[in-house]
Amino acid sequence: MTENPEGSAVHPTASRAKRRNAVLALYDSPVYRDWAFWMTVGWGLMTAVSIPGSDQPNSLPVWLDTLLAVLTFVTLFGVIPSWLRLLLRRWLGRRKERSPRSSVGAPLTAGHGTAPASAQRPASPAVLSPPQSSSEASQRRPPPPETHSPHQPRVAPRPQRVQESLQDDTDLAKAGTQPLSSSAVMSDARNTMPHPVARAIRTLQQANTSKEQYEALLDAAEILAISASVTAAALLQRKIGGSAVQTDESNERSLSMLRSSLLAGGGATFGTWTNWLGSLRPLAASHPDVVPGLPNALHSDGRTTGLIDHLNTLRTERNRAAHGDRPQSAGESSLRVEEIRPHLEHALMKAEFLTQSPWLLTVSCSYQPRTQTFDVVAHNAMGDHPDFERREFSWTSPVANDVFYVLTSEGPVTLSPFVASLFCPQCQQMEVCYAAQADKKTGPAILKSFARGHTVHSADLGDEIRSLPDHRRGTTR
Ligand SMILES: [Zn+2]
Repeated sequence: MTENPEGSAVHPTASRAKRRNAVLALYDSPVYRDWAFWMTVGWGLMTAVSIPGSDQPNSLPVWLDTLLAVLTFVTLFGVIPSWLRLLLRRWLGRRKERSPRSSVGAPLTAGHGTAPASAQRPASPAVLSPPQSSSEASQRRPPPPETHSPHQPRVAPRPQRVQESLQDDTDLAKAGTQPLSSSAVMSDARNTMPHPVARAIRTLQQANTSKEQYEALLDAAEILAISASVTAAALLQRKIGGSAVQTDESNERSLSMLRSSLLAGGGATFGTWTNWLGSLRPLAASHPDVVPGLPNALHSDGRTTGLIDHLNTLRTERNRAAHGDRPQSAGESSLRVEEIRPHLEHALMKAEFLTQSPWLLTVSCSYQPRTQTFDVVAHNAMGDHPDFERREFSWTSPVANDVFYVLTSEGPVTLSPFVASLFCPQCQQMEVCYAAQADKKTGPAILKSFARGHTVHSADLGDEIRSLPDHRRGTTR
């Protein structure tokens, strides 16, 4: 039940290495190399041998007496110490994670070797492909060509530059000393990521002072967490009614969780988005096609660190700053940037699935009676350039104007109510906004602009958020 899914099937070479807490979450694999396992077995054997031999009077039959004694001793002196060891390892792992300093010099995978994280994750299909050379990280994608095909043509899958290996970690650690503006991962993200992420990375690369870099890096991390979450949420909405009942239920439960977070008093925060994205692990493992690329993004084990781990480290730093522990000098700022930068770069690489599901902002949609299709003009909301490239499509179903969509191989999927293009009263212009909060019963939704954090209200989106699946009530859209 809790065996490590990333066992020897995925890492044939890793099978000999000791994997901590990989067996029943209590013992290390292989068990014969774990002292706690031998301690448990030893107590069981010793009790089993000694009880029948004792000549103390007892009302219970010997076999029952032995069985009870074995269970008691194994639990007391085998299972409980192993469990305490698990707690201690978890605590040490968390402590290591919380201190960004510890993760700079050390490999980024440190602290994630214990099984708890992987033990909770159900088996995921092997998503690893042969290691790629890290120079692929610097590959730029040309802007997508204009197309009239019903859906985006699925070109051969992009080389998986996201394949983490120790090699990548080393390269990134080396790159950490280079100026941010020359980061290949970031330059790549500026070309290939959804506009809010690409724009935030642009701001980061163009920041002049280390203090500005520090702020921009944390902003970029939060925007990445939101963009990854809303894209996943949009794709979850798509599958409802379209596939197996079981999938629908887990989709609905996930969307219902997000709905509750948006309707909760404080609204959605960096932590809300990150935790929600992390909660999709079981769904991503059991239905890897619902959000293509998500299983790989969330995958983490002793050798690779997942998107959520990196986002959590960045969030911890953001909270640290928010709670008064901001860097006090330029020197401290650049030191902290150096510490957390590898996490952002890794997170960007892990979130590669965002580059494969382009965001579109529709402009117009008109019915063509002859072909019985809809001619759609949309802006390609990818990359950091504020003037979106124009694309034309011919789709079999209509779409709304001025609405964000994620383009999938099966057609467009709406990003509403999570992302919207709204008029910002402060800037007096349209801004790309994300849903932050709505009232439980009535009233407009509160959205925030990705670029400036301005607040915009929308009555329609308030209703739309409230009509997301509510798992407790069992309502379905
Ligand atoms: Zn604004």
